Amino acid sequence: MSIEILPGTLYLVATPIGNLDDISQRAVEVLKQVDCIAAEDTRHSQTLLSHLGIQTRLLACHEYNEERISPKLIKQLEQGASLALISDAGTPLVNDPGYRLVDQAHAHAIKIVPVPGACAAIAALSVAGLATDRFSFEGFPPAKKGTRVHFFEALKTEQRTMIFYISCHRISDTLVDMLTIFGQQRRACFAREITKTFETIKRCTLAELQLFVDADEYQQKGEMVIVLEGAGKAVDDMAQAEIYLRILLEDLPVKQAVNLVVKMTGANKNNLYKTALEIKNA
Ligand code: SAM
Repeated sequence: MSIEILPGTLYLVATPIGNLDDISQRAVEVLKQVDCIAAEDTRHSQTLLSHLGIQTRLLACHEYNEERISPKLIKQLEQGASLALISDAGTPLVNDPGYRLVDQAHAHAIKIVPVPGACAAIAALSVAGLATDRFSFEGFPPAKKGTRVHFFEALKTEQRTMIFYISCHRISDTLVDMLTIFGQQRRACFAREITKTFETIKRCTLAELQLFVDADEYQQKGEMVIVLEGAGKAVDDMAQAEIYLRILLEDLPVKQAVNLVVKMTGANKNNLYKTALEIKNA
């Protein structure tokens, strides 16, 4: 495969998120031919590059030095050097460093070329079987419980499918909060160790997911993504349940009407009870 590397160009190259075969031929060629590769962790990336037989010079570009070295890299690009940016895994800039460098590259009218490939968020979304017409990437939920609860509260009525990166140290606590805020029946997909030997893809409700994760300590280890169904369907179901409730309340007492609608729709009993009282009192 022959690829023409353009001088003075910044290439954003995706690398595998587990299985080393998940790198495109184009990515390999670009990484071989550029003058230099900026990597989040040079030692980590050296393993991948050695596996691919790539000897290109590496330099570090991470969260802590990006601001400082970006002007230097821009200067090299302006002098005609070609540069590839990679992160430890997946697509650079997706919850990884690089946006400051790319921002400055735009400001200096430097040519920027994407070399797309693996991304855990998109891989998880593709296996989730949840609506994909609109989705939002929410990154890592905050580590502190209070902040995390606020973070999820703000997403309670989000109708788009949501994608979260989850730290394995917080999976159990995070699921407790998700269940409390989004409800037991909200559907989710747990995608763990994607493309690796012990990959898990589990699509179920949040209540089932909590049981699944709590029952098996291996599910609490490794790298993980949760894809969460948007609120749209739950909102629609509640609207339908309310229609039934209004009809039944014309002839039945609150308790009986609520019980019947729960049986018919599976809607949340407490919410229905509150709605029934509001209808009665109106
Ligand atoms: N740039 C990466 C990408 O394109 O997906 C994401 C980097 S972010 C710092 C690391 C997080 O991505 C992990 O904590 C995990 O939530 C998710 N992740 C990365 N690789 C994964 C994998 N193989 N399986 C599941 N989640 C993964």
